[in-house]
Amino acid sequence: MEYLFNRWEEVERALASGALLLLDYDGTLTPIVERPELAILSPDMKELLKRVSQHYTLGIISGRSIADVKRLVGLEGIYYAGNHGFKIIGPGVELVKPEAERARPNLVKLCEELRKKLDNIKGAIVEDKGLTASVHYRLVAEEEFEYLKKIFEKVVGPHIDSGVVKITHGKKVFEIRPNVEWDKGKAVRWICGVVDPKRELKPIYVGDDQTDEDAFSALKEKGVTILVSEEPIESNAKYFVKNVDEVKTFFEKLINMRA
Ligand SMILES: [Mg+2]
Repeated sequence: MEYLFNRWEEVERALASGALLLLDYDGTLTPIVERPELAILSPDMKELLKRVSQHYTLGIISGRSIADVKRLVGLEGIYYAGNHGFKIIGPGVELVKPEAERARPNLVKLCEELRKKLDNIKGAIVEDKGLTASVHYRLVAEEEFEYLKKIFEKVVGPHIDSGVVKITHGKKVFEIRPNVEWDKGKAVRWICGVVDPKRELKPIYVGDDQTDEDAFSALKEKGVTILVSEEPIESNAKYFVKNVDEVKTFFEKLINMRA
């Protein structure tokens, strides 16, 4: 894995004929915070995104619901993929995976049960995001984590065994998704196909977490893949930047290329 700014000339060459910029939200555009509702874009990041969107085709690919991520980013005329790509909207496109919609009643019940059972664990947050759900445990005391995990597995286990949902693990969060062969990687491929059918643009993907690895793999051959991580780690991404501030620097460089 290479530090992006050490390889800038190579990246600049790759992007010379245009780029499709696909970005994760939490941990990429905002630092990781204690509660999901506190992850608000800084005014300068908001301004940079707006300027980037004037020069490049832009999409935000998040585990949040579309409504949530759209409210946080606040830009019209760009692409949004919510719930890890189970729903995608943008200029002239709309996709909702029907299998995910069918799993919705189960998810509602599951969230209710989790809320009830996790009620006595201080700091546990059950978030129903429509097509997917999250259990956040960043605020849970370390010594209570094993207990939380046990309850979580007991409640969700039968739904995994019956093939209704599956679980992924992010930064201090369990994600519950419909058991459908779909992830950020497949969503990103779908967006590239729809937005740029002639494959003229270079796809760029920037993300910081486990679910972004699917997108990194999907774009491994053709794209510019960038992990946000203080240290270079084992990842499918080709490049890394250290933090959200360096993501900003990257955007500034992208804008300067077109100015
Ligand atoms: Mg993230």
